[in-house]
Amino acid sequence: MSQIDEKLEPILAEVLRRNAGEPEFHQAVREVLESLGRVIAKHPDYLNNALIERICEPERQIIFRIPWVDDAGQVQINRGFRVQFNSALGPYKGGVRFHPSVNVGIIKFLGFEQTFKNALTGMPIGGGKGGSDFNPRGRSDAEIMRFCQSFMTELYRHLGEYTDVPAGDIGVGGREIGYLFGQYKRLTNRYEAGVLTGKGLVYGGSRARTEATGYGAVYFVERMLATRDRDLGGLRAVVSGSGNVAIYAMEKLAEFGGKVVACSDSNGYVVDEDGIDLDLVKEIKEVRRGRISEYAKAKGGTVKYIDDGSIWDVPCHIALPSATQNELTGRDSRELVKNGVLAVGEGANMPSTPEAVRIFQEAGVLFAPGKAANAGGVATSALEMQQNASRDSWTFEQTEARLAGIMRDIHDRCAATAEEYGAPGDYVLGANIAGFVRVAEAMEALGVI
Ligand code: NDP
Repeated sequence: MSQIDEKLEPILAEVLRRNAGEPEFHQAVREVLESLGRVIAKHPDYLNNALIERICEPERQIIFRIPWVDDAGQVQINRGFRVQFNSALGPYKGGVRFHPSVNVGIIKFLGFEQTFKNALTGMPIGGGKGGSDFNPRGRSDAEIMRFCQSFMTELYRHLGEYTDVPAGDIGVGGREIGYLFGQYKRLTNRYEAGVLTGKGLVYGGSRARTEATGYGAVYFVERMLATRDRDLGGLRAVVSGSGNVAIYAMEKLAEFGGKVVACSDSNGYVVDEDGIDLDLVKEIKEVRRGRISEYAKAKGGTVKYIDDGSIWDVPCHIALPSATQNELTGRDSRELVKNGVLAVGEGANMPSTPEAVRIFQEAGVLFAPGKAANAGGVATSALEMQQNASRDSWTFEQTEARLAGIMRDIHDRCAATAEEYGAPGDYVLGANIAGFVRVAEAMEALGVI
């Protein structure tokens, strides 16, 4: 495992001290700082003006109360967050997560990662993230709407197309973005389409945004495989999750000739040796908002549903963890390596533990970190902002072609950077350094702010 350069150790120690009790944020900062030793050896000027300390400190953190009334007439209280991490490259940009596990440390880790991811896309977007500990599971449509309206009633004053542009994440899809945008429009009396991305097509959304994160992760994996003269044709794949990222990753894997044999939700996973029937998954998850266990019930036959154990025990060539952080452990990675995995692409943010990443890299598995592999979502959000700014609407093909080009560029930038810094094939190092340098250069130019 790479070590932290001794010049960076005090910076990490200070981050740990000032952000006590936030293990995910510590993990994300440590991973980036581990990559920066090689950068400061070449460019010691990055140690000046507390530049790295400033990168690790969010520009602004907003925490607020969200009161709302449930269908039984009871008042409920949740907590809302928006961490505006870094705006050196553009307005804060990053999703909103509704999940009971959400706390300020998780939002900070996501905002920190987002800053480098957005830099890697080459587009003019800063980094931010938000969310709430609200649990949407089992809530009626009317409750979701009232919650979204209350969330936006506080948040709107901090947003704007030139200020901060949220999007979806876990628990926030097209329905929620619609309610959030509706309330923003009502409160501000402005049709400011560029204030949110992931919108529906009829009110300013972009074609291919729904598909972008999953498709983009597969484009990235395809490009990694090409460096070893392989493609996805005939390979077995396992994708964790069955939400937005997982569904469209599975769709693109199948289109490229791969065979997806397993997917999951937070209760368990299904294995279908005939290849996952994506129409059925979409019906269960996007229409019925049901559980993945219903897939096995509907299919019967040889399809298995397993609710104890790990999806990563299913043998595969390609693994795309696309559910949540730290879902793939050292034990899981050993199992995947033993079963002959060739490539891992993180559809989710930080789904592999540091031990898992180390095991993949030591085994020579192609490993794409989330900040590179899942950047297609935010890149297409930036394309949505471009369309909104020019009051234009592109075709699906045009938008997907841009996405494919962006993913190719991100891959090649990560690979070239890793090579330049003496670690060929290390996409973690390449992504961290390439993202960092772009943010750092902009921050240097803007002075101490
Ligand atoms: P969704 O809410 O659409 O889907 C999340 C999926 O992961 C669901 O199947 C969910 O199961 C499962 N899941 C969530 N939390 C857990 C948990 N604690 N343990 C096990 N399974 C869990 O979210 P997305 O697909 O949008 O997001 C998935 C990941 O991708 C996240 O890490 C997100 O940050 C990242 N990401 C998303 C982007 C996007 O454009 N949407 C862009 C870049 C990254 P269940 O239904 O049972 O909760």
